[in-house]
Amino acid sequence: VSSTAEQFDFFYFVQQWPGSFCDTWRGCCFPDTGKPAADFGIHGLWPNYATCHGRDDDAFSIVGRRGKCWPEYCEEEDGNALSPWEIRDLVASLSRSWPTLSCRGGDSFEFWSYEWKKHGTCSNLRPHDYFARALELKAAHNLTAILAGAGIVPSDTETYPMSGVGDAIAAATGATANLQCNRDKDGQTQLYQVFQCVDREAKNLIDCPLHMRSRCSGDRVKLPLF
Ligand code: 5GP
Ligand code: 5GP
Repeated sequence: VSSTAEQFDFFYFVQQWPGSFCDTWRGCCFPDTGKPAADFGIHGLWPNYATCHGRDDDAFSIVGRRGKCWPEYCEEEDGNALSPWEIRDLVASLSRSWPTLSCRGGDSFEFWSYEWKKHGTCSNLRPHDYFARALELKAAHNLTAILAGAGIVPSDTETYPMSGVGDAIAAATGATANLQCNRDKDGQTQLYQVFQCVDREAKNLIDCPLHMRSRCSGDRVKLPLF
């Protein structure tokens, strides 16, 4: 972990809906541990600034403006590669909760290593704590169950109001989140990722200080079957 503490304001804890990752024109692949559960999976835990550096006129975290709205790759040396040994007691749990769906021929460990290098090295956390906190956050706020409790269940025919999704998460977790959509093969808008905001210790949810470009067009979204 870097010698000088990284200055950032909060974490985005990002989870992806596997049905929405897989039903795009790009498709998906399952890791060697098999088809993941029909459950939100972790994408990453990303340190973020509350104000984009150098762009104070624009407080919105717009995707693509890298290195301005968040720190990344905080250690350049090779010494920061994630070691399987360091997280060995978490591997079974990570395989269930943080599976890769990419077809780039990687297993989930490669996904975790990538996320560690890009975001984890800026977190001021040791690798074990970084991954353990992410698992704890997911377990503490079961998004799939929260949505189901609000009648928002996976379906290829139903659509749900965006406000219903956001309200259900805010009511159940006590904190607002940002939602991101993508499109299925037919161009239909669907819920893809949920960005929850977390304090600098990666322990407690906070209301998201920033809004993001949601890519959700219209006010209803699908939650496709997986
Ligand atoms: P995309 O362009 O696919 O939305 O994002 C590409 C990558 O940029 C993400 O995987 C993530 O590493 C990083 N990224 C995108 N948006 C944000 C953001 O708002 N905050 C942070 N910290 N990283 C982001
Ligand atoms: P980001 O830069 O957006 O944090 O991470 C995205 C990178 O992780 C991409 O290069 C992608 O190929 C890889 N990756 C591996 N597995 C997954 C997955 O299940 N979902 C996403 N969004 N990216 C994955």
